[in-house]
Amino acid sequence: MGAIVDRTNEALARIADREDLSAFQHVATDRARARAAALDAAGGHGPLHGVPIALKDNIVARDLPTSAGSRILEGYVSPFDATVVERLEAAGAVIVGTTRCDEFAMGSSTENCAYGPVKNPWDVTRTPGGSSGGSASAVAAGLVPIAFGSDTGGSIRQPAALTGVVGVKPTYGRVSRYGLIAFASSLDQIGPFTKTTREAAQMLDVISGHDPRDATSSTRPVPSFTGALTGDVKGLRIGVARHLLADGVDPEVRKAFDASLDVARSLGATIHEVALPHTQYAIAVYYLVATAEASANLARFDGVRYGHRAESPSSLAALYERSRSEGFGPEVKRRILLGTYVLSAGYYDAYYRKAQQVRALITRDYTTAFDSVDLIALPTSPVPAFKLGERVNDPLQMYLADIFTVGANLAGIPGISVPCGFTSEKLPIGLQFLARAWDEETMLRMADAFERRS
Ligand code: GLN
Repeated sequence: MGAIVDRTNEALARIADREDLSAFQHVATDRARARAAALDAAGGHGPLHGVPIALKDNIVARDLPTSAGSRILEGYVSPFDATVVERLEAAGAVIVGTTRCDEFAMGSSTENCAYGPVKNPWDVTRTPGGSSGGSASAVAAGLVPIAFGSDTGGSIRQPAALTGVVGVKPTYGRVSRYGLIAFASSLDQIGPFTKTTREAAQMLDVISGHDPRDATSSTRPVPSFTGALTGDVKGLRIGVARHLLADGVDPEVRKAFDASLDVARSLGATIHEVALPHTQYAIAVYYLVATAEASANLARFDGVRYGHRAESPSSLAALYERSRSEGFGPEVKRRILLGTYVLSAGYYDAYYRKAQQVRALITRDYTTAFDSVDLIALPTSPVPAFKLGERVNDPLQMYLADIFTVGANLAGIPGISVPCGFTSEKLPIGLQFLARAWDEETMLRMADAFERRS
């Protein structure tokens, strides 16, 4: 047997060994072994030669079942590869399977997954965060070195924080969304989960860049992200919005955040106060924009084109209605209802248009802040990993968990979460750096220097 087949089998064995985490939705044993054997036979040395990689269950790959955590897509197998998959495989990666997520990436705990929640390897009674919780759990438990997720309002950064790994949301348009099952198209970005910032930079080197199949992907040249990791952050100006940390932030998270700023200072960075005055509206704006876009994107799941179809409907309307009623879970239905409502005649101006206007103000807050600082630091999540079951019956409480992450999506800027310590109960805490649009280099340089020092 070749080296890559061995390495693939080892990953498959680790995955089988930790089935208790429910991190994986589908383990692509045959596909992965065939691919590994082909790579062994061909030789060659792509930058990811033989690296086992997992994909969130909303990123499609040829011959790989993809459900987006929903019954409505049960049994769906994609006839094509997402652009990120094409690029990862061209670099030599071996896709070993898909990881569990909240249904259509709507959630912060994986408890909205129709197939059951994922567990946090640090404490299996707790959530790994969401929606990309399976990818986070898989990397944190060492089942795969790299996994990919999607981040619409924090779904890469928040689970990275809750499981003690690195997670990056690139600038909107940096990475092609072709082959990502759409949730909210103006917010969605694909990004990596890794153990280190350097590995995250390597992943961005592979997946970034223009794709003619995604009209929102940028034609900007892609720098070398690994080349940006010089370790030198002297003189970098970091903005902190202290007023946002006043309430609702767990004291241990706050303490770890303050200690992280000391580390940044010791590396030669300087800390400055920034305002971000419209952040108080970010959650409301996000849940209007995201649900509006979701209601439009999810209209395609009608029982005709993909996935679940109701048995013997009495009419075409009944086919649509029953397929959707049977296929979608409660959170998805809630969002489709809300999104349809805010887009409807008579309410559009009051809600959707208003939300777009406030979104512009939020974006402007960041632009203004970045006139005087290079990065903004925030906790990634106000709380560490919470117990499974603790928040399921309170969607509003669940939505509030996104307070520090949704801003980056609304403004289209990049964000990274890096581990910055533990609570007294040994639960990981995440630190977030946000940067100007297209300036992942500064963000990664800071995160890398921080991680090597802390
Ligand atoms: N928790 C947020 C939501 O439920 C973010 C989800 C995401 O980024 N996909 O919408």
